[in-house]
Amino acid sequence: MTASPQPVEPFDLVIFGGTGDLAVRKLLPALFHRFLDGQIPAGSRIIGIAREALDDDGYRGSLRSALVEAGGAQAKVEEFLGQVGYRPLDARKDEGWDSFAALISEQPEHVRVFYLSTSPELFVDICNRLGSYGLNRGQSRVVLEKPIGRDLASANQINDAVGRVFDESQTFRIDHYLGKETVQNLLALRFGNALFEPLWNAGHIDHVQITVAETLGVGRRGAYYDRAGALRDMVQNHILQLLCMVAMEPPASLTPDAVRDEKLKVLRSLRPIDESNAAQFTVRGQYRAGAAEGQGVPGYLEELEGGKSHTETFVALKAEIENWRWAGVPFYLRTGKRLPERVSEIVVVFKAVPHSIFGASAGPLAQNRLVLRLQPDEGVKLWLTIKHPGPGGLRLRHVPLDMSFAEAFGVSQPDAYERLLLDVVRGNPTLFMRRDEVEAAWQWADPILAAWAASGEAPRPYTAGTWGPSAAVALIERDGRTWDEDSE
Ligand code: NAP
Repeated sequence: MTASPQPVEPFDLVIFGGTGDLAVRKLLPALFHRFLDGQIPAGSRIIGIAREALDDDGYRGSLRSALVEAGGAQAKVEEFLGQVGYRPLDARKDEGWDSFAALISEQPEHVRVFYLSTSPELFVDICNRLGSYGLNRGQSRVVLEKPIGRDLASANQINDAVGRVFDESQTFRIDHYLGKETVQNLLALRFGNALFEPLWNAGHIDHVQITVAETLGVGRRGAYYDRAGALRDMVQNHILQLLCMVAMEPPASLTPDAVRDEKLKVLRSLRPIDESNAAQFTVRGQYRAGAAEGQGVPGYLEELEGGKSHTETFVALKAEIENWRWAGVPFYLRTGKRLPERVSEIVVVFKAVPHSIFGASAGPLAQNRLVLRLQPDEGVKLWLTIKHPGPGGLRLRHVPLDMSFAEAFGVSQPDAYERLLLDVVRGNPTLFMRRDEVEAAWQWADPILAAWAASGEAPRPYTAGTWGPSAAVALIERDGRTWDEDSE
């Protein structure tokens, strides 16, 4: 029997940047799916905000095709759109804010969610106006999209400004990786089974790999990406959050602060990487022309209008957590654009058995691996050694116990944003980053960025459609290990 979803209270969800890519492609379809599951209470309102001069009907019209594509019957799409409205507003000008405030105040009892799906440069203006127009009343919350700053100083500026209007308990910093089914399942696997936790330490785990690989290049987002790069865009937030979920101590409960306290301890235990050791522990790459899905594709510099840049589109790192549980267990992290596959995976590689009783004819003994796949198809595989079936002597095979969630449960998995949006409405911040976590992550990332800048070196080139520069392979192979690329 499946558990029925918890109900939520009627709410007003205001999406600043309501006409943007994220809102149209992800947030509105996610809300629509929750509507189809009966989780948007009657009377709730979803209000898009942007500068474009649209009315309610014009906005609804701009969303229709994305919602139909999201899989709803036309009648359901229209019913959902009945709860959607629009207000043209400029975050930087007062015009229109009075009438917006009046609209929101029509429902004083509603939970209010202000989702800032705009460029972070607007966060401060929006929060200031939400404050000065008296909209932070009752059960209000603000959701901040990434990136929260481009270093510790700029993150602090944003967090200070938001904090002058909203309390920390009202502030939801979204990292959609934390809403993914597999990440939730990591908690269930680790703390809901007696099997894993006794082995989850340096005594039994050889190393951990986290890969977030994209096949796409930067395309039209080059101007934004060039100011960020792979470390800021992927490692400082998503990959470090995944690392925390793997490495944290068992929290005493699933209460938001219990989980976030444990994640924070991991971030604070990361061994610093700076000018003294960045060359040893990090590899930066930038793609040049190559192929993706059988088609020729341009290099990063050709996609950039400026044509010159030291921004990394690939990074591989060897991270270490300096505590009792993980002493001496490397966490190899890598992410990049224009890699051969779109895949996000955590691979926990256990130590080899201490002694083999099998002769050479049995074949090699592989190490057990637990593979948690976040995308494209979420699932978990546990690789075990078994005997090859049938006569012919004892020959060993390495095979996965394979649980694809879609197959195992016969349902399509909700998008991470579906879970996270409703968690905001419920006021549950467990899967959101607390301010001190963001700061600790920047405290680790800033010296790496500074070391790269000080070196003056360009990132190493790699051909689009390959797994990054050869130095990234050397990073792990000089430790006698290899990147996990054969988990199928
Ligand atoms: P986008 O497509 O450029 O959309 C920006 C939105 O902000 C538009 O609706 C724009 O509409 C509005 N806007 C711009 N200036 C405004 C102003 N002064 N006042 C009010 N509204 C204004 O950006 P996006 O891709 O949706 O990304 C939004 C945020 O989410 C960014 O912080 C991004 O880093 C983050 N994010 C995006 C993705 C993604 O997949 N797209 C993924 C993760 C995080 P008008 O120009 O009409 O005002």
